[in-house]
Amino acid sequence: MIVLVVNCGSSSVKIDILESETGDRIFRAKAQRIGTQLCQIRIDDWTLPLPGADHEKAIETIFQQTSLEGVTAVGHRVVHGGEKFSAPIRIDETVERSIEELIPLAPLHNPANLAGIRAARKHLPDRPHVAVFDTAFHHTLPRCARTYAIAKDLREKHGIRRYGFHGTSHRWVARRAADFLHEDLRNLRLITCHLGNGCSITAVEHGRSVETSMGMSPLEGLVMGTRCGDIDPGVLLTLQRHAGLTVDELDHLLNKESGLLGLSGISNDMRDIEQRAAEGDESCQLAIRVFCHRLLKYIGAYIAVMEGVDAIIFTAGIGENSASVREQVCQHLGFFGARLHEERNREASVDRLKPVALISTDHSQTRLLVVATDEAHAITRETEEVLK
Ligand code: AMP
Repeated sequence: MIVLVVNCGSSSVKIDILESETGDRIFRAKAQRIGTQLCQIRIDDWTLPLPGADHEKAIETIFQQTSLEGVTAVGHRVVHGGEKFSAPIRIDETVERSIEELIPLAPLHNPANLAGIRAARKHLPDRPHVAVFDTAFHHTLPRCARTYAIAKDLREKHGIRRYGFHGTSHRWVARRAADFLHEDLRNLRLITCHLGNGCSITAVEHGRSVETSMGMSPLEGLVMGTRCGDIDPGVLLTLQRHAGLTVDELDHLLNKESGLLGLSGISNDMRDIEQRAAEGDESCQLAIRVFCHRLLKYIGAYIAVMEGVDAIIFTAGIGENSASVREQVCQHLGFFGARLHEERNREASVDRLKPVALISTDHSQTRLLVVATDEAHAITRETEEVLK
C-alpha cells in the first residue's frame, strides 16, 4: 500500500509518501515557519519560499510538486485523542469534530493536526484518511498510573488525567525489539526510552503501556530539548507570585525556554551541549547530568512497576546517536544485572535497514538495545491495519 503521511506541527508540515510494507520513501517534503514571512518548503536540496503561507497553502503547494496518483490512503498524525480514541480510526465528519472538541487538551497541537486533515481531505477527497493518535497506545495505563491526586470533580470536569504521548514510537520500537529478540511481545517487560527533542519513557508490559512519563500534556516527565519535564508545581506558583509571570509567559518558559536549553543557556541540541561540556562548560556538564539522572530515576521506577525488565530500548535522536548519554545511564544499571558492552555501545549504528543494535554484553541478564524509530513508517502500518 502506498500511504501519504501528514504530520502537522504548530509551525511546520511534514509530508512523506511511503510504501507501507518496506518503509521505502517515495517522496519527502517539509514546510517550516508556517504563518510567517520566512515560511519555506524544502524538498531534498531544493527550497521554495512561501511567505505568509498557512497549513493549507503549504500542503497544496507540496502536493503540486509530486504525483499523488499511486497514493492509496492518507495517514494523519494526531497528537491528542483524549479518552475517546484508543486506536487509529478512519476520518469522517464525526471524527473531525471530536478532534476539534479535544483542542482544549492540546491547544498547541490539535488545531495544526486538524488544519492538515482538512487541507488533505479537500485535495484528496476520494482517498481514505486515517487519524493515528500519539495518545492511543497509552489507553491501557492502569487507573493508579493515570490519575492525578486532585479532587474528582475537577478531574472529571476538565479531563485532567495522564494520557501519555509518543505512543506510535513506543509501540513501534517495542515491536522491533521483540522481533530482534525472537520473542512474543506478550511475554516481555520492556522499557522504551524515546529521547529526541521531546523525550518520554514507557513501561511496556506484555505489549501494553502500563506507565509513561508524559502526562496530561507532553510537558511532564523527562528533561527535553526546551521543555522542563517534572517540576514542583510550587515553582509555578512562585514564578507567578514573585516573578510576576502571566499564564502565557509561564507556558512559553516551560515549553520553549527550559529543558536542555534552559539548563545549558546555549542550545537545545545535545550535540552542541556534549561538545561544550567536553570543552569544560559547567552549565553544559550539569545539563547532561540532570538529563541522565532524571532518565535513570524513571528507569528504576519502571523496573519496580513491572517487577523486573527484560530489555531497555534507546531510540530517537539522542537515544540512537549519543553513546555517551547511554553509557552515563547504563553504568548505573548493574544492580539488576544489566551490563553495557562499551565497544558495542560506541559502535552502535541503526537505520531503517538495520533497525536494532545490541549494546549489552552476552551475559547481561537484561538486554540493552538501540532501536531506530520511524514514525512515518509506523503511521503507514497503522493506517493499513485500519483499512484492512
Ligand atoms: P529527534 O527529535 O528524534 O529528531 O531528535 C533530535 C535531537 O537528537 C537533537 O536535538 C539532538 O539533540 C539529538 N541528536 C541527534 N544526533 C545526535 C548525536 N549524534 N549525538 C547526540 N545527540 C544527537
